[in-house]
Amino acid sequence: MKSDAYIFLKPWGKISRRNWQDWRWQFKNSIQSLPQLAEALDKPIHSLGKYQAVIARYHFRISPYYLSLIDVRDELDPIRRQCFPNVKEILYSLGGVIDPLKEKERMPVWGLIHRYSDRCLAMATNVCATYCRHCNRKNMWRVDPSMFSESRLKAVIEYVSRAQNIREVIVSGGDPLTMNEQLLDWFLGSLRSIPHVEVLRIGSRMPVVLPMRISRRICDILRKHRPVWFNTQFNHPREITEASTKACEMLLDAGIPVSNQSVFLKGINDNYETMRALLHGLQCISVRPYYLFQCDPVAGADHFRADVPSCLRIMRKLQDSTSGLCVPQYVLDTPGGKGKVSLLGLTDKEIIEGIYEHFFDKTM
Ligand code: SF4
Repeated sequence: MKSDAYIFLKPWGKISRRNWQDWRWQFKNSIQSLPQLAEALDKPIHSLGKYQAVIARYHFRISPYYLSLIDVRDELDPIRRQCFPNVKEILYSLGGVIDPLKEKERMPVWGLIHRYSDRCLAMATNVCATYCRHCNRKNMWRVDPSMFSESRLKAVIEYVSRAQNIREVIVSGGDPLTMNEQLLDWFLGSLRSIPHVEVLRIGSRMPVVLPMRISRRICDILRKHRPVWFNTQFNHPREITEASTKACEMLLDAGIPVSNQSVFLKGINDNYETMRALLHGLQCISVRPYYLFQCDPVAGADHFRADVPSCLRIMRKLQDSTSGLCVPQYVLDTPGGKGKVSLLGLTDKEIIEGIYEHFFDKTM
């Protein structure tokens, strides 16, 4: 597929290395339509007709880089399953709710979720470089982009400056690194200039789905507003590549600690060997495994939810067999927005009696 000067990848054909390394080229050339997807898969367009209703309901975008990680002939490819539309997303009979964590109820101003007293989360955009099919905010993808305009962000800044108990702001989305760089710089700078805001945290999947976005300019912006902590989301060991490693190294070199928040995804990483390889791989690239989430019961992602007892067995085995530095906190964001619960804290008796079902949700 590769030559010295070009990369060959359907549907784009010959791509110069220069374009390949350019995040703008990657973003502009993302797959966003079924004809493009059909070409990438080498399939007739009519064979993908069943996905029309899915992408009409939920946005669809795959960066050329992320597509290049996929074995397109394998329908069960773990990276393909994270980004290709699936008709199960619109089968509401599967369960799940639009806003499982009741984030909208905890928005004192639009886009600002204030659930814990000393920190809050600012949704700075709803645009992503690749739309992950398991995303717990997938029902926000179609919100009008004007809801994330500068004036809306100003309202967020005003709220944070009035709420003196907030010491940490998580800037998330969507993916905040899809924002215009000047706007991102201004937003981070405005938050950091609030005397009681001590720390910023960025939630971005760019190192995984579009690592070229971690440019020198982005590192300079983040460095300027330190202390900034960076959380990303590697879910499978095959996502750890030369390019994603370089992106994380650039952040680390800029003095930005990088942590990972994975999601247990059914058929993708819900087995001991895969999870172990992922966590060891992260440790080798100096990315700290921070959280491992049980997939939220969000509408359109129910088919990704792995069962708690199997995941607990995997986590216990990991805890017993590898360095504590590699073992993230295994948590469930409790439905209704009541906060995170450490699932490793449950006893065998509780699991056997199904107490977690009683407390959380029978389908967890
Ligand atoms: S990058 Fe993050 S916000 Fe965007 S779709 Fe993926 S999980 Fe959701």
